[in-house]
Amino acid sequence: MNQQTIQEHKLKIIKIIDETLDVKTFRVETPDGTEINFFPNQFFMVRFPDSELQRAYSISSSPTQKDYMDITVNMVGEFTTKLFKSKVNDYLIFKGPFGKLHFTENIKNDVVLISGGCGIAPLMSIIKYCSQKNLQNKIKLIYSAKTPADIVYNEDLKKIKEQNQNFNYTVTITRPSPEQNWTGRTGRIDSNLLKENIKDIENSLYFLCGPVEFVKNTISLLETLGVKKDQIRTDVWGG
Ligand SMILES: Cc1cc2nc3c(=O)[nH]c(=O)nc-3n(C[C@H](O)[C@H](O)[C@H](O)COP(=O)(O)OP(=O)(O)OC[C@H]3O[C@@H](n4cnc5c(N)ncnc54)[C@H](O)[C@@H]3O)c2cc1C
Repeated sequence: MNQQTIQEHKLKIIKIIDETLDVKTFRVETPDGTEINFFPNQFFMVRFPDSELQRAYSISSSPTQKDYMDITVNMVGEFTTKLFKSKVNDYLIFKGPFGKLHFTENIKNDVVLISGGCGIAPLMSIIKYCSQKNLQNKIKLIYSAKTPADIVYNEDLKKIKEQNQNFNYTVTITRPSPEQNWTGRTGRIDSNLLKENIKDIENSLYFLCGPVEFVKNTISLLETLGVKKDQIRTDVWGG
């Protein structure tokens, strides 16, 4: 696939998965004959058939999955409130793919994925793609969530780690409380956490996704560790 054509597809919701209290995955069917080519870490503009209101959503499933595509969405405002009222068998219109900072199998470096909250969505597409294609890149996910209950894809991550020896991940909880029984790492992503978890700082490729402040802070942490700008690919989702 050298050149991507932007196309519009009307796709049926076939499953809605509750990931956390305010994050859901919407799975849309890509029926036989609907060739939708995208790379991991790309997004589509999504709208409802009866409205012009549209928003950008990263695809969280792998492009190797030919019969469906997933978007994983955090409920925040106008579009997402309407989306969360959608039901199985409703339709959504997807226009895309968009985004140049995607992952391809030509990338042979170790890959470090850093995200906060729902920002894990496009990174999950990379994780699933590498796992399903059996790619040899070492993949490290460094992920921060507010509480243990806010860890999106908690079970999927455990399963993928069991199946793919090239994948590993670390979660840090930013708002721990005693009743959560969390024995893992706490606090924000800082340079110690990065140093402890990145094996080959100089030669890895970094994919970052989250709100603007999160991405800005993470870039400056990486730069102080010696990472160069051209090693970093970011996805910023706004304020
Ligand atoms: C390339 C790209 C990929 C993206 N991928 C994803 C993804 O995979 N998953 C995902 O969840 N999001 C993703 N986003 C974000 C997504 O496009 C939307 O911006 C997001 O879902 C919010 O849309 P909304 O209409 O629900 O919120 P909006 O109504 O647009 O609200 C946006 C912000 O304004 C605040 N706000 C809304 N109304 C008010 C008000 N009256 N007063 C004060 N504040 C208000 C909201 O709290 C929120 O913080 C992506 C964005 C980009 C650019």
